[in-house]
Amino acid sequence: MAEKYDAIVIGGGLAGLVAAAELGDAGNKTLILEQEGGDWLGGQAYWSLGGLFMVDTPEQRRLRIRDSRELALQDWMGSAKFDRPHDAWPRRVAEAYVNFAAGEMRSWLHAMGMRWWPVVGWAERGGALADGHGNSVPRFHLTWGTGPGIVAPFERRVRQHVASGLTTLKFRHRASRLIKTNDAVTGVAGDILAPTDVARGRQSNRDIAGDFEFSADNVLVTSGGIGGDHELVRKVWPTDRLGPAPRSMVAGVPHHVDGRMIEISRQAGADIINTDRMWHYVEGVRNWDPIWPNHGIRILSAPSPMWFDADGVRLEAPFFPSYDSLGTLRRVLATGKDHSWFILTSTMAAKEFVLSGSEQNLDFTGKDWRAVLKNRRGGRTPPSVQAFLDKGEDFIVRDNLGDLVAAMNALAGDQALDHASIRDQIEARDRETAHKFSKDAQLQGVHNARRYIGDKIFRVTRPHRILDPAHGPLVAIRLHILTRKTLGGVHTNVDGQVLGADGEPIGGLYAAGEVAGGGGGGYHGYNALEGTFLGSCLFSGRNAGRHAARR
Ligand SMILES: Cc1cc2nc3c(=O)[nH]c(=O)nc-3n(C[C@H](O)[C@H](O)[C@H](O)COP(=O)(O)OP(=O)(O)OC[C@H]3O[C@@H](n4cnc5c(N)ncnc54)[C@H](O)[C@@H]3O)c2cc1C
Repeated sequence: MAEKYDAIVIGGGLAGLVAAAELGDAGNKTLILEQEGGDWLGGQAYWSLGGLFMVDTPEQRRLRIRDSRELALQDWMGSAKFDRPHDAWPRRVAEAYVNFAAGEMRSWLHAMGMRWWPVVGWAERGGALADGHGNSVPRFHLTWGTGPGIVAPFERRVRQHVASGLTTLKFRHRASRLIKTNDAVTGVAGDILAPTDVARGRQSNRDIAGDFEFSADNVLVTSGGIGGDHELVRKVWPTDRLGPAPRSMVAGVPHHVDGRMIEISRQAGADIINTDRMWHYVEGVRNWDPIWPNHGIRILSAPSPMWFDADGVRLEAPFFPSYDSLGTLRRVLATGKDHSWFILTSTMAAKEFVLSGSEQNLDFTGKDWRAVLKNRRGGRTPPSVQAFLDKGEDFIVRDNLGDLVAAMNALAGDQALDHASIRDQIEARDRETAHKFSKDAQLQGVHNARRYIGDKIFRVTRPHRILDPAHGPLVAIRLHILTRKTLGGVHTNVDGQVLGADGEPIGGLYAAGEVAGGGGGGYHGYNALEGTFLGSCLFSGRNAGRHAARR
């Protein structure tokens, strides 16, 4: 007979860890199944930048950011644009999350030892109207210790339960079927994968060495999204909203983000919704030192770099760095090509770029105050950015614009960029830097950003001419589409119970984290506000774990 547990958690990423920690605290005998090896937990969260969407925090108030639950909800709803009948639960989860983010979230995490970099970041500014998409204020709280700093408290709690014998970890165990008895899910069957000695994040083998079957009162699916399987991403790509799927993309997530459990959940009766909603970035660059296959890194840029499409036309408002991810994606793909270009000064590269990923921010990840201040304040280029300038295949550094454009054409393998046209567009923008006011919407945004003290000191350069040699040499960066986040998935209620096609909970089955579109089956709606993915793992993992523990 299959070994029996109170609960089985499929996937040892952040959502799974949070749920398992809650189940363990409630005294539930819990099994965590993880397809990867090496005793590593944390999934994507380990590699993440650790940014969290929180509202009206002491960090914000110290910087004179007046945030509120109402403003955050306005921003969320303006971004989500829920418009489908089955968006009822996603909307309720979103409302519940905003209440959590404006309420208990920070104190709950703080009590577990988590802390945040005191300068709150301003992600996804939107750039349209007050009731439209985007964050009205900075609310991206960078966790001290980045991704590993978020994983650590939950891993600690889980490992305590492992030490006491309550929780069992089984690595290289890949779930491939949910077992049902009388319409309720009562267990999990799957493959035992061959051992592996690859380092964390690298692609491991999928050789099958055996099989398993375990039973449980509750099964929680926390297996992540689809961003690592580009064929699957293309299959569900929303051509009607974004244009044809890109032919070429880089992977912003490890290989294990394969989305398999979504189909497996469907086969067990789960309602799968909003699969056509997804969140990918336009500012991807190929990693010169890749960890996973086709590894791309996202540049989180402040608003100053000029952005050109593949044909050399400057992107119009509001498609500026840090404004509107999916709008810019649509705009870039409208050229029929998959890449676009940043052109900027070395001064901007030094101050305005953060590379997404814990391994790209060793000063923050290592909680090294001195290194952070040295790297981020002194006008010096952070070492990870410098490494890309030196070694990244998408980076071009030249003393004059003619040479820069020639090198850009050579890199793209065409002659799509015209030096005179690009020079004219840059000179026009440069003339507008003479005043603190401007008709150039991007420069208006730069001035606005610098009214926020955090951006002024740490992120946004004083407006200057791109062609001013004092700020040189010039930098051009070829930007790829980078796959990352899944906005739809398994339909659930606020407690994480998985719903069937009839809208009723399926007995014994829960889902949380990215596999459930952050909870509900897509609590972001059509657009994400950033920091809301880790946030969703914390919230939906906690809800699912607590509710399952009571059953
Ligand atoms: C570089 C990077 C930077 C990011 N930065 C941020 C940020 O700053 N803020 C933010 O909010 N979000 C960020 N994100 C997104 C965020 O990290 C993820 O959305 C989140 O961690 C997803 O967690 P999860 O637990 O739902 O899934 P995952 O982390 O994908 O974990 C799922 C786990 O399940 C396992 N699994 C899958 N299928 C099976 C199976 N069949 N059987 C057994 N095990 C299985 C996988 O191996 C994996 O370990 C970032 C992501 C990346 C990659």
